[in-house]
Amino acid sequence: MFDMILFELQDAVGQDNVSTRTSDKEAYSIDYFWVPEMWHDRQADWNVTRPMADFIVHPGDAGEVSKVLKIANNYKIPVTTWGGGSGSQGGALPVFGGITLDTKRMNRIHKIDESSMTVEVGTGIIHQTLEWELESKGLSTMHDPASSRCATVGGFIAHRGTGVLSTKYGKIEDMIVNMEVVLPTGEIIDTLPVPKTACGPDLNQLFIGSEGTLGVITKVTLIIHRLPECRRFRAFIFKDLSTGLRVGQRLIAENLQPSVIRLYSENETKDLIKRVLGIDKVGAYMVYGFDGKEEMVDMQMKYAKAIADEEGSEDLGASLGEEWWNNRYKFFFPPHMYSLPKCFGTLDTVATFSNIENVYNAMKEVVETQYPMARYIGHFSHWFPWGAMLYARFIIDTPPEDPHEALFLHNSIWNDAIRAAMSAGGVLNEHHGIGLKLSRLTPELYGNAFQIIKNLKKSFDPNNIMNPGKLGLGV
Ligand SMILES: Cc1cc2nc3c(=O)[nH]c(=O)nc-3n(C[C@H](O)[C@H](O)[C@H](O)COP(=O)(O)OP(=O)(O)OC[C@H]3O[C@@H](n4cnc5c(N)ncnc54)[C@H](O)[C@@H]3O)c2cc1C
Repeated sequence: MFDMILFELQDAVGQDNVSTRTSDKEAYSIDYFWVPEMWHDRQADWNVTRPMADFIVHPGDAGEVSKVLKIANNYKIPVTTWGGGSGSQGGALPVFGGITLDTKRMNRIHKIDESSMTVEVGTGIIHQTLEWELESKGLSTMHDPASSRCATVGGFIAHRGTGVLSTKYGKIEDMIVNMEVVLPTGEIIDTLPVPKTACGPDLNQLFIGSEGTLGVITKVTLIIHRLPECRRFRAFIFKDLSTGLRVGQRLIAENLQPSVIRLYSENETKDLIKRVLGIDKVGAYMVYGFDGKEEMVDMQMKYAKAIADEEGSEDLGASLGEEWWNNRYKFFFPPHMYSLPKCFGTLDTVATFSNIENVYNAMKEVVETQYPMARYIGHFSHWFPWGAMLYARFIIDTPPEDPHEALFLHNSIWNDAIRAAMSAGGVLNEHHGIGLKLSRLTPELYGNAFQIIKNLKKSFDPNNIMNPGKLGLGV
């Protein structure tokens, strides 16, 4: 049957667009989740393997995706969609083998509409490539994630991604006008041409964040903006995290509309801010920024500084704020990003302003008291009218050598920290998604309401071929 199915897939997308080569299967067996990285690192000495697909398929448009999904349904073969493979949750790993469906041939910019201020684009495009084209015309999506160079637009939609400028421009889900989606059974659908209607539930929102479990998003129309006349930043040190959180909350509540606020805990200030920016200070480092017309930005900066001054701050000035902006991606790449042999994880959580500090403290206590071999650091990356996102991390410098023991320790920290966060009012993820990493905790997060998601899955994907084992949906 293997050769017969291979032929059907080649017939659907062209012989050159299907691979069964081991080297390709290996390349598509590892994303940025710590566990497959660790498996890869130790497979020579230990009996561990990585999940591999049987076929890597590269469809060129929705029609070809439809053909692939029909074949997969016919033989009940799992299909895992792969964008850039930059996800940190194991979402794109083909854990039950079958077909890896790579979207990167669907990478055309179909239309830039400067009257409606939208761009229609294939979801397999690397986000940076789209930005280069838009920016050459003085335009931008204003989605500015650290993985812009290695993630696809479809990956961001599937994972509900968030960029640095989220406080003003929103998350990817706020930037979508409409989408083309291939359903698991092969039908191609379009959502309504505009996102603000009174025509029932919003189909866009059904597929955003569905992590390849409800279909393949093949095309999207995104909102775009003119590049701002100016961008200004300013940095401060606050005596402690609580003061910084209060300042951030006031910048939002007093409607100043910052494009960026980033606040680092005292220990992350001591560690990463010192290492990446060379600022050696005691306290909590905060940077905020505004963009737009120069005079308006000047006014916003003036009122924002007044808040920081009122709460008591050490003003580091504009240049150390700009320094952060110019180095904003550095934090997430070597040598500053944690890497093997260390064991680490980003305990991404989000909560209301009333709960967010408790969430930070609850996870800190669990990590530091139950896991003395681990360090805990955190910063607050994304700010909403009602609360903020916490990018907390645990780091173990010398985890167990045995990969099974290492995985047990890694997963135990995740369980205990996330359960503590949920008890304190946190939600387990804001922009990294669920994937394989957090699948087991998702039904716990939703409680009874999870049945709705399970029922949706059943009606969209009766043979459960799309990304089985992810998003808490089992097999
Ligand atoms: C250095 C670094 C920095 C990062 N910084 C950020 C950041 O600032 N903000 C942020 O949000 N994330 C960040 N991430 C995480 C990651 O880039 C995002 O999760 C991104 O959305 C993944 O996109 P991808 O194309 O690589 O998706 P993949 O990893 O290939 O896939 C992720 C999931 O989406 C599904 N999927 C992919 N494409 C489609 C599609 N077209 N239709 C349906 N399902 C699909 C896959 O099946 C999988 O479940 C970072 C990652 C790295 C490595």
